[in-house]
Amino acid sequence: MNYKNITVAGSGVLGSQIAYQTAFKGFDVVVYDINDEALKRAKDRIMNLKPRYQEDLGASEEEVNTAYNRISFSSDLSKAVVNADLVIEAIPEVVQIKTNFYKELGEVAPKKTTFVTNSSTLLPSQFAEATGRPEKFLALHFANEIWKNNTAEVMKHSGTDMTVFDEVIEFAKAIGMVALPLHKEQPGYILNSLLVPLLEAAQMLLLKEVADPETIDKTWMIATGSPKGPFAILDVVGINTAYNIAHGKAQAGDPTFEKLAELLKTEYIDKGKLGTETGEGFYTYPNPNYMKQDFLKSE
Ligand code: NAD
Repeated sequence: MNYKNITVAGSGVLGSQIAYQTAFKGFDVVVYDINDEALKRAKDRIMNLKPRYQEDLGASEEEVNTAYNRISFSSDLSKAVVNADLVIEAIPEVVQIKTNFYKELGEVAPKKTTFVTNSSTLLPSQFAEATGRPEKFLALHFANEIWKNNTAEVMKHSGTDMTVFDEVIEFAKAIGMVALPLHKEQPGYILNSLLVPLLEAAQMLLLKEVADPETIDKTWMIATGSPKGPFAILDVVGINTAYNIAHGKAQAGDPTFEKLAELLKTEYIDKGKLGTETGEGFYTYPNPNYMKQDFLKSE
């Protein structure tokens, strides 16, 4: 493994998880964020991950503490990357913020350093030039709660060096991820390229009043053997996110998505049904109907 010292830039929801998981697997990690206040929040977030690792992974007290102690914190970008073999960027999903960040990073980071972006919706080619080292830049995309949902989509752009691509795949494996290589740029990577159309198709069946959510989920679950149908998945994703996607497409001029956005807003969001996070969405929790024993049985 060529990478030893890892810097995680941006220590929000995903950045703090990436930093802790990387430290937990034995790497030295520097967490970089814009100021001391943000770093204080990062420390709290990371501290809160310790019991999750103990409960979900059976990690010992010593292991979770040792992992924490491998992390240092800095709000000075030059200092944060001075020894970095790899910088993992997890800053806000805003083109201008990321572009400015990469310009600065490209200037202060050592020549050897590889940069990866955890961006969910933006493509590495959008920032390749700003990095000043397009051949050492690509995407490494994690899922929320990475210690359990351990997928790492590794996606190159056309200018990424193949050796660097392979090194990042090795790194992803070394921190306990299932590495999923994408040889070409693809908006939404593999998962969302599959999931978004499925979830939209399900919502359109509901909008057209073809069938109710439970019938649609039941069909999918029985026919494919999946543990969840699209509406159960939507509850986990959150109805707000589904609304934002529909609203975006409505604004781009699609009248069907305008109707869908309206339905999600009036029937779910306005009633506080945001999905699992509020205990109700298309199902009610903690014991949603789709998990009940007789859900998939014929009378
Ligand atoms: P977040 O808002 O929780 O955290 C962003 C962090 O970046 C904050 O700590 C903020 O202080 C910091 N920040 C802001 N400007 C910065 C700058 N110029 N330099 C350094 N740090 C800066 O965001 P998040 O949900 O962790 O998402 C971060 C990235 O990860 C996004 O690109 C997002 O698409 C991606 N992502 C998020 C999820 C998710 O479920 N939240 C999943 C996969 C990928």
